[in-house]
Amino acid sequence: MKNVTDIRADFPILSRKVYGKPLVYFDNGATTQKPQCVLDAVDKVYKEYNGNIHRGVHYLSDMSSEAYEAARENVRSFINAEKREEVVFTSGTTGSINGIAFSYGERYVKAGDEIILSRLEHHANIVPWQMMCERKGAVLRVIPINEKGEIVLDEYYKLLSPRTRLVSVAQASNALGTILPLNEIISAAHSANVPVLIDGAQGIQHGIVDLKEMDCDFYAFSGHKIYGPNGIGVLYGKEKWLAEIPPFQGGGDMVDKVTFEKTTYNELPFKFEAGTMNYPAAVGLASAIDYVLSIGRDYIASLENELLSYANERLAAIKDLTIYGRSEHKIPTFSFHIKDIHQYDTGMILDKMGIAVRTGTHCAQPVMDHYGIDGTVRASLCFYNTKDEIDALADGIEKVKTMLV
Ligand code: PMP
Repeated sequence: MKNVTDIRADFPILSRKVYGKPLVYFDNGATTQKPQCVLDAVDKVYKEYNGNIHRGVHYLSDMSSEAYEAARENVRSFINAEKREEVVFTSGTTGSINGIAFSYGERYVKAGDEIILSRLEHHANIVPWQMMCERKGAVLRVIPINEKGEIVLDEYYKLLSPRTRLVSVAQASNALGTILPLNEIISAAHSANVPVLIDGAQGIQHGIVDLKEMDCDFYAFSGHKIYGPNGIGVLYGKEKWLAEIPPFQGGGDMVDKVTFEKTTYNELPFKFEAGTMNYPAAVGLASAIDYVLSIGRDYIASLENELLSYANERLAAIKDLTIYGRSEHKIPTFSFHIKDIHQYDTGMILDKMGIAVRTGTHCAQPVMDHYGIDGTVRASLCFYNTKDEIDALADGIEKVKTMLV
């Protein structure tokens, strides 16, 4: 098993300095860094076999198409989807959710119908549904959260009704780190014959995603959140849904036969992949998945659990620091505020110490409204982070306090 020093050596950016200080990268919730193998895999596509996929008879196109379809199989196996037809490449989580909100809405949603979301959602899992509701005359219903930042399941059960058309919730909150009780959410929805979409943007990086076990109907994630390249994402959908709903984009590759009178669509999953897909990034994502598997998913989880408890301990000991999101079921993401100090000031001073954290609402304004705050400082950790880095953050926060209070 690789130790953390060896793991960090796989990520070239982690050894750089910022303002002459070693980089402490605690913004993994926004995007993760890339191991060398991912950079090499993308480079290799462009250097050795770049050709547009699925269209050519020539050697390069064939090689690119093969690598792209191998990447799909890689993703399928990683998330344990039953069929490759159920794995659609998109531009990212946002692209995947917008796609389903449009296509599912067109096919199944009518005026007066309801979509259930939670108050923990990222804007990417709110706004597309709002846009669809406006088009269709449907209504959003929102599962409330408690002070710890956990959804209130009893309220969720009350929201499920014969008018509910879909439930769409995050696997984990990007703003607070709370892991949602997906088993309860999905089984209650299914008992009411309601499908469920899981926004896996913050889940894919931290846990084992086994879609056969989870049994959600749709699952969305972004490659860049799991050490892969930007510009690639995945939309998983059970075949029975993907076969029924219309495409969300029209163009090349998603068609079977086109005339001006009528177009018939390609088979799954290509029906949802219009235009030139980002095949180099898909190949990079496959390499990121191989990397994660080579480190070991259980090992990653154990490293992250250790970081979670250590950071909990260190941050809890800091006077005048409030942590938002106190669920016991958390990813290693910490949203906090220091009394009388604006989050931007904290973030900017930490940055000058080489510590990258995020500040603001984290695209989750309803969560901030719940606490009556206008933002937090967020440190989001992953397995390549270290206890020394957590110490650097804790010391940095103390310095911020002496400078500004
Ligand atoms: N949902 C959640 C929970 C997220 O954390 C994010 C990214 N911060 C997104 C959706 C959107 O992901 P992307 O920008 O990669 O589409």
